[in-house]
Amino acid sequence: MVNIRTVNCPEEKRSIKCPYSMTPTRIVIHNTAGDATAAAEIAYMHRNNQKVSFHFAVDDTEIVQGIPLNRNAWHAGDGGGKGNRQGIAIEICYSKSGGERWLKAVENAADLTAKLLKDYGWDLTKVTKHQDYSGKHCPHRILDEYGWDNFLKLVQTKLNGKTPAPSGKISVTYQVWDDIKNKWLPNVNDSEDYAGNLGHDVCAVYAHLSQGNITYKVHTLGGRWLPEVINREDFAGIFNRPIDGLMMKTDTGRTLHYAAHLRRKNKWLPAVTGYNEKESANGYAGILGQEIDAIRVYLD
Ligand SMILES: [Zn+2]
Repeated sequence: MVNIRTVNCPEEKRSIKCPYSMTPTRIVIHNTAGDATAAAEIAYMHRNNQKVSFHFAVDDTEIVQGIPLNRNAWHAGDGGGKGNRQGIAIEICYSKSGGERWLKAVENAADLTAKLLKDYGWDLTKVTKHQDYSGKHCPHRILDEYGWDNFLKLVQTKLNGKTPAPSGKISVTYQVWDDIKNKWLPNVNDSEDYAGNLGHDVCAVYAHLSQGNITYKVHTLGGRWLPEVINREDFAGIFNRPIDGLMMKTDTGRTLHYAAHLRRKNKWLPAVTGYNEKESANGYAGILGQEIDAIRVYLD
């Protein structure tokens, strides 16, 4: 989800913009019918003296909150009704012209809606539209083009956690325990370097991603595969027990490449992408019986 940034409503405008305390019971979806950014919509709302306000404005890159969720806002056109007095208002930007940035704003608004439903323990029936309160044709572009049911489906998809693969680069940060220095070596990112001191056995591994989860485990020399660990909740390995196998996988939908360097042969093995202790060719990095002295990891 994109970042949520709070811009406080100016003190002197609170009696106009959010005069009543509120216990929210629903979400009210709007379209701005403009082409301004979320930041500009919130700034304009704070600046003018009209009895018009909303809690969130969402565009293609961020969510800006301008009214606290325990105060009411004026957006639903129903006077002192449930829309204005119990609704969390979300304005989706760029609905005047539509296009790519509008579709991204819809996506971000669905993320925010799903987050609020989770936060309040609500189901999809709490997602309402401006039209439900005053008959105004809002959120206009969702009604005309996207489809209200499709928006609800998108929110449900977010609730189910079936989010599309993360966009942008995902980095892996990792480090190893060195059995001669008897300490953790510095963190390394992706394939900018490798983790390890050549000639020193690796005994344990720590790793995490910039987004999503990495699951991994190691095989101890002359021993067995140790239990899996996820991210940095624990490390994989036992201090002063050299490892000869490493397995890694991710839930990000990206391909994770990981390679081991063999101490005695002083060479890198080809990177592997699988996760299967029975498959020596691509299921794990390393050759059982051969100490690993460095690893290298990156994602596509
Ligand atoms: Zn509206």
